[in-house]
Amino acid sequence: MSMFGQVYVKNNQYKLKGDFHELTPNMPIRNADENFRLMGVTNPRSLTYIHSYGGEAIFFESLSQGKLMASRCDNSRCAYKGSVWMPFRIYCPDCLKKMTVVDITDVAKKTARIHTFMVCERSGAFSLLDKPIKFINVEFDGVVTILMSYLSVGQPKIGMRVIPIFKKIDPTYTILDLSWVPEGTRENQLPVGFSF
Ligand SMILES: [Zn+2]
Repeated sequence: MSMFGQVYVKNNQYKLKGDFHELTPNMPIRNADENFRLMGVTNPRSLTYIHSYGGEAIFFESLSQGKLMASRCDNSRCAYKGSVWMPFRIYCPDCLKKMTVVDITDVAKKTARIHTFMVCERSGAFSLLDKPIKFINVEFDGVVTILMSYLSVGQPKIGMRVIPIFKKIDPTYTILDLSWVPEGTRENQLPVGFSF
């Protein structure tokens, strides 16, 4: 059994350890209705993709620490200077300058509410979320955009106040580490690994 590929960075270079793709023997596909005539072969593939976060890394690192980071344009020549963006983005869409990272955890705790929502009884392939998935669009005071996320407890309603929760235990360092619950939800109602 081989080890899935692992990566760290040293001297500004990726350092790789383990196997990044695995050759697995193929298997014939035979037709059971026609004397097991050969129809083709399977081609098993297993690979590890290296997904670099670049300037967004701080957003995912912060989720694991219970913090929601947004970005703000501080360019005095930008027509929309002061705009705060969530989801996090590195560059201002209006002036293309690099933005400032800002912590909006408290703003989220005090003002986040459901703009709209949809409940999905089925999901796409490889979704890790429990069904039905309660997708919510979250709006915040002072933020120019709306965040797509998911509600972990209760039923969504338009205008409902929601509180962010973070997967601080065994974080995945993906957007799934951030979820929401209705205001007033108790800590013992949260999904495994999540806390306020
Ligand atoms: Zn700007």
